[in-house]
Amino acid sequence: MSLAHGREYLAIPGPSVIPDRVLRAMHRAAPNIYEGELVEITGTALRDLKALAGTAGDCAIYISNGHGMWEAALANTIRPGDRVLVPVAGRFGHGWAELARDLGAEVEILEFPTTAAVDPDRVAEALRADTAYGFRAVLAVLTDTSTGIRSDIAALRRVLDDLGHPALLMADCIASFGCDPFEMDDWGVDVMITASQKGLMTPPGLGFAFFNARAAAARDRLDRVSPYWDWRPRAAPEMFYRYFFGTAPTHHLFALREALDMIAEEGRQAVLDRHATLARALWAACDAWGRGGALALNAADPAIRSHAVTAISLPGGPADRLRAWCAAEAGVTLGIGLGTGAATGPGTGEMFRVGHMGHVNAHMLLGVVGVIEAGLIALDIPHGSGGVEAAARVCAGR
Ligand SMILES: *Cc1c(COP(=O)(O)O)cnc(C)c1O
Repeated sequence: MSLAHGREYLAIPGPSVIPDRVLRAMHRAAPNIYEGELVEITGTALRDLKALAGTAGDCAIYISNGHGMWEAALANTIRPGDRVLVPVAGRFGHGWAELARDLGAEVEILEFPTTAAVDPDRVAEALRADTAYGFRAVLAVLTDTSTGIRSDIAALRRVLDDLGHPALLMADCIASFGCDPFEMDDWGVDVMITASQKGLMTPPGLGFAFFNARAAAARDRLDRVSPYWDWRPRAAPEMFYRYFFGTAPTHHLFALREALDMIAEEGRQAVLDRHATLARALWAACDAWGRGGALALNAADPAIRSHAVTAISLPGGPADRLRAWCAAEAGVTLGIGLGTGAATGPGTGEMFRVGHMGHVNAHMLLGVVGVIEAGLIALDIPHGSGGVEAAARVCAGR
C-alpha cells in the first residue's frame, strides 16, 4: 500500500508546477509564424515581461534554458581575455563563472559561505583594488537556487557607483523572477537574465535577456557576436522571423501569454506577497521541527532567504531518505540538495530543497509541509512537533 496514488506534486525548484490554464493554452494547432496572432502575442508578452522586470530597456527572447542565458549575457558583452568579477554565494554562481571562463574570460571569484549572501563590502574591496578598471562586468545571482539565499543586487550598484567603476552589473534572476522582488531600472542593473520554467510557470525552453542602453553599447563595441546569441536583431527585428533567429517557439509563446495573463489578473504585488507568505509558512514549520532535532534552515537570517526556494539541512544525512519517502509514500517530489562549493556534487544527503515558485497556493504548500512532517515521523528523524500548525498559523495570518 502506498499513499502516493493521487495527483503528484513536484516541489522542486524548477521546473515548477504548470497551471492547467497554461497547459490548455498550448493544446492547439500550430499557428502561422509570419503574421497574425503570434506576432501580437509576442509583442504584448515583451511589454508585460518588461513591466514585471521593472525596466524600460530591451528584452531578447531565446529558445533556451537558463544555461543558454548565462551564455547570451556574456556573448553580447565580453571578449576573450576580458576580466569579470563573480561574487558567488552558491552552486549557480559557480556555474556562471565556469561558463565565463569557458568563453575565454579571465574570471575572479569572490566566494562567500553557503549560509550567507554576497557581502557588498568585499565586492567593494575587489573593485577598489581594480584601479585600472579592468573588470568589464560583475556577475551576480539574485537567488542562488542551491542555497535558497537572496543577495542584495541594488547594494552592488551602489558599490559600483561609489567607486565610479564602469563595469556592467548583470543579474541572474532565473530562480526568482516573479517571486522575489526585483526592480531592474531602480536597482541599476544593466543585464538581467531569466527563463520560463520557474516563477513564470511555463515549460522549460524560453530564455529572456533584458538589457539597458549601457549594455547595448557594450554589445556594439564587440567586433563579432555569435549570431544565435546576438541580442541586437532579436530586440529590434525588421521582421517577426528575426525575433527568434528562425522559427518561433509557437506553443511556448501561447503558454507564456497565458501565464502572464494569470500574473496580471492576480496583480504583480499580490503575486510577490503570496510568495512571501507561503515562504514564511514553510520557514515556520522548519523552525518548529528544528526545536526538537537537527533540521535547520540553511539561511539563519530571514532577511536573506528567497521567497522562491528554501534549502533545508539535515545534518547526518537523512535528506535523501526523506525525499525518497515523500515521493514513494506521499506523491511529493522534493528537491535534491545541491553541492554548493565548486567541487561538490548533488546528493550529499545533508540537504534538501523545496521549490515554492510560481503556481503555488496555501493548500499546496501546506500539503508539502504535512508530507515532510509525516516523513520525519515515519523515518524516526528527530524533530520538534507542531510544524504543520506553525505553517497553518502563517497561512491564517495569526
Ligand atoms: C535554474 C537556474 C539556472 C539554470 O537554468 P536551466 O534552465 O536549468 O539551465 C541558473 N541560475 C539559477 C539561479 C537557476 O535557478
